[in-house]
Amino acid sequence: MSVISPARPTSQTADYAKLGPLTQALLDQALTEADNTVDNREFRTLMEIATRLAGLDLPKGHDVAKCACPYCVCGVIFDTAAPGLREVEHPGEYNLPLLQCARCADEHPAFHED
Ligand SMILES: [Zn+2]
Ligand SMILES: [Zn+2]
Repeated sequence: MSVISPARPTSQTADYAKLGPLTQALLDQALTEADNTVDNREFRTLMEIATRLAGLDLPKGHDVAKCACPYCVCGVIFDTAAPGLREVEHPGEYNLPLLQCARCADEHPAFHED
């Protein structure tokens, strides 16, 4: 395990690994359902739930995501409006883009074809 030392001041983030197993399961469920719903109100509710479960206090209307880094097991949960994030894959049929957290994007940015 490497020592976590953010290269720049990060906005509010949470560590998935530090959440209890029940909270992790509920958070995963909320994020998965948010990813699959076509109802915007339901999406907002699920995002609100995921934000609270992660212990984050984000402005209303913000989305949370779990780091989707393909190179390490990261588990950072962050505000998708935070600076320095990098898209791993473009959202297709899903609501949520796959994002690397700012630290991963800094240390080992995901390779893009284009
Ligand atoms: Zn990360
Ligand atoms: Zn990473």
